[in-house]
Amino acid sequence: MRTRDAAARRISVIKPALARRLEWLAALAISAATAPAQARIPTASHASSAQVQLDGNFIQGGWMRGNAAADVVSVTVGDEALTLDDSGHFFAAFDRDAAAQVQLTLTYDDGRSHLQTLSIAARKWQIEHVNVAKRSGGASEAWWKKREPEWNAILGARAKQTNADGWRQSFIWPVKGRISGRFGSQRIYRGEPGSYHSGLDIAPGAGEPFVAPANGVVVLAVQGFSLEGNLLILDHGNGLNSAFLHAQSLAVSEGDAVMQGQLLGRVGSSGRATGPHLHWSLKWRDARLDPLLFLPDAE
Ligand SMILES: [Zn+2]
Repeated sequence: MRTRDAAARRISVIKPALARRLEWLAALAISAATAPAQARIPTASHASSAQVQLDGNFIQGGWMRGNAAADVVSVTVGDEALTLDDSGHFFAAFDRDAAAQVQLTLTYDDGRSHLQTLSIAARKWQIEHVNVAKRSGGASEAWWKKREPEWNAILGARAKQTNADGWRQSFIWPVKGRISGRFGSQRIYRGEPGSYHSGLDIAPGAGEPFVAPANGVVVLAVQGFSLEGNLLILDHGNGLNSAFLHAQSLAVSEGDAVMQGQLLGRVGSSGRATGPHLHWSLKWRDARLDPLLFLPDAE
């Protein structure tokens, strides 16, 4: 597919026109099955064989992985300086509300830099307009007294960095079942937007086992949180982490290193849940991501 050309670096991305055309389900198929289109980046000034390879889902809630040549000293996406591992691999992801374009900047060891605009396709979120007033967000002082330490524990866990390498892997389903809630869906209350759904809800039935979608280190495993119930947070390394909510029981403890496919717990309805389901949310740094975009097709 690639031809060798010492004067050019190449960046492969999903072509914006193609990406824009995709419904999000189609985007799933792309991530699983299609090699991204290649676009040649002309570089007259930097006589190097260096290349950057990118692939992923260049869409809101999606992600990318790349590999920079040895003479690349830094890679930034927007304001985010990426972490390059020893072999130049890196990861970045695109928030649910990511802008249509973001700048990729490569800096070389001779001080030169190369800029490339990445197009991030917009999603059609599931928006429901309801003719009721939005509930006031003002929680009681008593409630916050219980909630605040929980909130801090979650923030602390998500800030933990581990050496987990799950970010390099192709994710697998933690459990298969009916999708009972989609990432990004949102209600608008008489014109006032509520917060969007931050994860993917899978409802295979109470007591069904769920497993690690990728390698990780358990950074939080707690019982009885007000909203989340029994909650597990798994760090996949490089700023990427998963949270699993409402478990009936957890099979791992804080500090455990787990392998992809390893049992994490059983699906339940602990915390604030209307029925048994696994709520799985994924974050990279501050960006909220759509787990479906990391998974092979549902069928
Ligand atoms: Zn949910």
